[in-house]
Amino acid sequence: MARRRDSFIMGDDAGVADCLLLEEITEQAFMDNLKTRVQRDRAYTYIGEVVVSVNPYKSLNIYGDDIIKQYEGRFIYERPPHIFALTETAYKTMLRQNTDQCIVISGESGAGKTEASKIIMRYLAAVSGHGKKVDEVKEIFLQSNPVLEAFGNAVTNRNDNSSRFGKYMDVDFDFKGDPVGGHIANYLLEKARVVKQSKGERNFHIFYMLMRGANDQLLGQLELSRDPNTYNYTNQSGVNAVKSLDDKKEFEAVLKGLKTIGFTQADQNTLFEVVAAILHLGNIVFEGGVEGTTACSIDAESRKHLSAVAKLISSTDDEVIKALTTRVVATRGDVVYSPQQATEATIARDALAKAAYERLFSFVVSRINDSIKVDASGRNKVIGVLDIYGFEIFQDNSFEQFCINYCNEKLQQLFIELVLKREQEEYEREGIKWTHIDYFNNQIICDLVESKNTGIVAILDEECLRPGDVTDKDFLNKMDERIGSHAHYRSRQTDKNEKSLESNRDFVLKHYAGDVVYNVNGFLAKNKDTLFQDLKRLLYQSKNGTIKTMWPEGAADIKEVTKRPVTAGTSFKTSMGELVQNLMSKEPHYVRCIKPNDQKASGVFDHERVLHQVRYLGLMENLRVRRAGFAYRLPYDRVLQRYKMLSPKTWPHYKGGDLKAGVELILAACNLAVPAIQLGRTKLFVRSPKTLTALEEAREAKI
Ligand code: ADP
Ligand code: MG
Repeated sequence: MARRRDSFIMGDDAGVADCLLLEEITEQAFMDNLKTRVQRDRAYTYIGEVVVSVNPYKSLNIYGDDIIKQYEGRFIYERPPHIFALTETAYKTMLRQNTDQCIVISGESGAGKTEASKIIMRYLAAVSGHGKKVDEVKEIFLQSNPVLEAFGNAVTNRNDNSSRFGKYMDVDFDFKGDPVGGHIANYLLEKARVVKQSKGERNFHIFYMLMRGANDQLLGQLELSRDPNTYNYTNQSGVNAVKSLDDKKEFEAVLKGLKTIGFTQADQNTLFEVVAAILHLGNIVFEGGVEGTTACSIDAESRKHLSAVAKLISSTDDEVIKALTTRVVATRGDVVYSPQQATEATIARDALAKAAYERLFSFVVSRINDSIKVDASGRNKVIGVLDIYGFEIFQDNSFEQFCINYCNEKLQQLFIELVLKREQEEYEREGIKWTHIDYFNNQIICDLVESKNTGIVAILDEECLRPGDVTDKDFLNKMDERIGSHAHYRSRQTDKNEKSLESNRDFVLKHYAGDVVYNVNGFLAKNKDTLFQDLKRLLYQSKNGTIKTMWPEGAADIKEVTKRPVTAGTSFKTSMGELVQNLMSKEPHYVRCIKPNDQKASGVFDHERVLHQVRYLGLMENLRVRRAGFAYRLPYDRVLQRYKMLSPKTWPHYKGGDLKAGVELILAACNLAVPAIQLGRTKLFVRSPKTLTALEEAREAKI
């Protein structure tokens, strides 16, 4: 008889579908299996309930409505691994148990996280109900994608459509399981990109889309050129177009999206006015200036751009030039305007551009939220989707990588804890004996970063608050002093007193994913994230009411000693704490994305690159923890259905009422007993894949 195995349980010529069923739990076996699957166009593989997704870099024919139908209402193991199956599980669990769910998607840039989140949304939209309001909500969720991506994504060397922010999205469902609204939270937009892009990368998409897509009239109003080479903020990297992205066409999608979200024509104009103002701002070049007496000046060409900025933000030339080239200093009730030199004014200009863009992005998100807002009666149940940056280990790592890696440290801790917790709970529920499993607890690293007084963020804040000429080097010295002996911290400076030394200004954090070297240069400035009050006032005083609302703190009196704003580090720490709390309150589902190669090529499996990700995603740990107990478990009714032919007493139909007793008949017929298997209250637990293979083979022999 031909061997006919179910690909979705035991695997076929494309390896095993669930790595828990690998004969050996080794890195080698795991990698070999993943490679086999990738080469056979299997983008998805399970580790138990976790979906491991390897970016196929080509369109696979597995996302159509027909495929959705195949997953609808199905049990996770009944079909080949798919994000649809995971989403179905989350959706069904929410409905059945009336509990909140979340889907955490992680992986490095270009691994396929954002595509995964869209696949999830598509599935949810397809399987839920219809109605005027419900369809409207679905449409907003769908149409907000091109808008969020235009403002929040950019071409990078890793990904032509790289999200430069973290996103957590809640979808609210009513008791029928229909989406009725939701909420989007955004994290840590990479605003430095507004003023500076690395070679081969672009600024945020919207700059190019606007220049290429706006009609002549809009372009004229914004005094913009169609050529990105005209502007300093879009001409530094040598790249302003990529094949995979049609800026003009995408701009149409943005307009359509804005309309669906409910942006009025006036608000739409404001968005583009701020974007255009930023482009003009970047072309203002300052010259000269004398310390303490004379402010820097600008030439006629810059003056033209300055006037455009003034017009676009509904201010005046005088106000803009004053805000950029002088600094208000309030001393004992007196207000003094201190003239700024060219370098200082340039820093202020870039700071303004970055801050204006960041506020604009938050404004867009808040408007989307307004349009999908649900009344907070708490009757709804929620599925949250987290699409957030994975571990970053670059040649040069700075404050941004520090934040991102800390975030991953928190999420990994949550992951391991929840996987373990879920295992333990299931064993308890089923009355199965539970053995404790050791695992690496990264609380120690989280503490190193977030502890109240001795954590790195606290030390950084302390240095930022200290008066006087405090440098990044002082920050490093302070860390060496306070946490120098911590097992996960290592300083790389050789001479504490060498102030001028630019090199060896770094420290190493031993993350769970490996050692990362951070260079302290810029940590203080990035953490302070100061924007002078002058600039906030400039925008607060805009005659454009929408711009004004983006800058509420501009209202403060100049003479008042301004309260120190929360630092970037502390703000990030707080939002991560809230995020983790939120995720903890929900039942989690995981998608772990892997980028198979750096050439964005389909079918190419770069062993080293994949192994690196497998390690820092903690997949082997995940596998080990899950396999420490039982490789496989199946509810009794499913066991009976699948293996009834193995005992004459259950074939062709099991007549008894008690499912467990029926399963015992089958097991007895196959000579299977404890400890190879265990019988729980509702499920059969199988310890090793070999046992399952034996069952499967016996089954195949009969059919
Ligand atoms: P990330 O959000 O992790 O940085 P993306 O989701 O933006 O990565 O994916 C990067 C690119 O990889 C996409 O633009 C697309 O070309 C390709 N890609 C990702 N997932 C898939 C998929 N499931 N099928 C086909 N191509 C994909
Ligand atoms: Mg993304």
